[in-house]
Amino acid sequence: MNKELIQKFGDLVSRADRILIISHIRPDGDAVGSTLGLGLILEELGKEVSLVLEDGVPKVFNHLTGSDRIIKEAIGVFDLVIVVDCSDIDRIGSVLDEYGEPDVNIDHHPTNTQFGKLNLVRDNAVATVEIVFDLAKELDYQINLPIAEALLTGLLTDSLGFRTSNTNPQTLQIASELMEVGANLPILYRKAMLEKSFQAVKYWGEGLSRIQMEDRLVWTSLSLEDRIAADYPGRDDADLINVLARIKETDISIVFVEQKNGSVKVSWRSRPGFDVASIATQFGGGGHKPAAGADIKGDLKNVQQDVLEATRKSLQKSD
Ligand code: 5GP
Ligand code: MN
Repeated sequence: MNKELIQKFGDLVSRADRILIISHIRPDGDAVGSTLGLGLILEELGKEVSLVLEDGVPKVFNHLTGSDRIIKEAIGVFDLVIVVDCSDIDRIGSVLDEYGEPDVNIDHHPTNTQFGKLNLVRDNAVATVEIVFDLAKELDYQINLPIAEALLTGLLTDSLGFRTSNTNPQTLQIASELMEVGANLPILYRKAMLEKSFQAVKYWGEGLSRIQMEDRLVWTSLSLEDRIAADYPGRDDADLINVLARIKETDISIVFVEQKNGSVKVSWRSRPGFDVASIATQFGGGGHKPAAGADIKGDLKNVQQDVLEATRKSLQKSD
């Protein structure tokens, strides 16, 4: 990453006392890992740090030291506002409504809209935690065990356990350095990626019972009723999309999750050679070529119809 930008970030940090770090709604491991990792790094520098995720920390990341420091709203006045792992400002939810344009935008999405005053965006990074790691190295910030665990969790979850096609020697180099600090990869992997609650698997069952396949497209939906039937506490898909993405007869998979506010959260996954970020962008969302998402206004049936139509068109173009 450009040394000048890194230095600018270092200068902003050294001038600030109170720092707010935020990430996206329905946070994943990279959102939690980059918020927490960067937060703990800055705290070690003597800063007063507030860590905010509008939806709080999903239970699967509760084991991370410091995760209980993450709160759901920003309170007070800050000298520096940093947004991590968000491709656009809407992804944050309403946390920033009173704070205006963020000072720093740290992200790895190719669809990033450069919404910060300073934009540290590198779309060849496997995860945002990779950029946080680079910043720490370049600026000589110390990485202790809780920081290493947070960063390794983000690296693991965004690379799906080092198996996404963008995984490269640098990814494993960073993982190795974090392990040198003491982060336990097998335990972090199991906690963040393998273990599921009984309710989550029951919720999968609701979705899997209605799974459909047509040509090389597979999809299913999760309704509010399914959420109640499974007693599932989250408003995400419990990672069902990554179960569908394993079906070998398909090129693109989609999960539709009905939301309480009259919208539908859509997740796409695709095989190399297919770009689902461009489909998600058509619906106001974003992401990466192989994994993208969007929050779309409308009821489950209509959103499903529109999204399937756009996805079929995109598949035809790739033929
Ligand atoms: P997931 O389907 O797991 O929620 O997200 C897959 C990828 O798409 C992630 O990189 C995520 O950041 C991005 N993504 C998911 N939902 C949205 C959304 O509503 N807007 C944007 N811009 N990106 C999203
Ligand atoms: Mn990410």
